[in-house]
Amino acid sequence: MALGSNIGDRAAHLAYARSRLGALPGTRLVAASGIEETAPIGPVAQPPFLNQMVLLETTLDPTALLAHCRAIEVERGRGPPPRQRWGPRTLDLDIVRYGTKTVRSPELTIPHSELPNRDFWQREIAELEREHG
Ligand code: ADP
Ligand code: MG
Repeated sequence: MALGSNIGDRAAHLAYARSRLGALPGTRLVAASGIEETAPIGPVAQPPFLNQMVLLETTLDPTALLAHCRAIEVERGRGPPPRQRWGPRTLDLDIVRYGTKTVRSPELTIPHSELPNRDFWQREIAELEREHG
């Protein structure tokens, strides 16, 4: 799961997400990558992001996990959808991969469609894989 924030106390938003994710039912936070600062992507002028990748072990299925992610985002002050695509956000939680599972529904694409385009995600995953296979 990728954590991103570019509004407010970015490190605090990431820390909040790590602790909430690790406390979800049937879920354990196994590892976290280093935190990286990245330039915003896309057409909207906005502050730089802090990003972090975390490795979770969970019994939640992808749809249930997404619902929890949306709830956690809202707890950090992010408005409910619809919202500006690529826009600034206090907290963004993206399911980048889910084991070897593939999901394609109107609300969920796994692996995440942006994974091939985001070097920092690939770097962070490699960092987690070096330590956790
Ligand atoms: P962004 O694309 O900038 O992350 P949002 O965070 O607002 O935009 O996400 C919009 C929607 O993207 C979510 O409500 C969710 O339904 C959908 N989505 C599709 N695939 C995924 C995924 N792998 N992880 C998280 N959200 C996803
Ligand atoms: Mg998102």
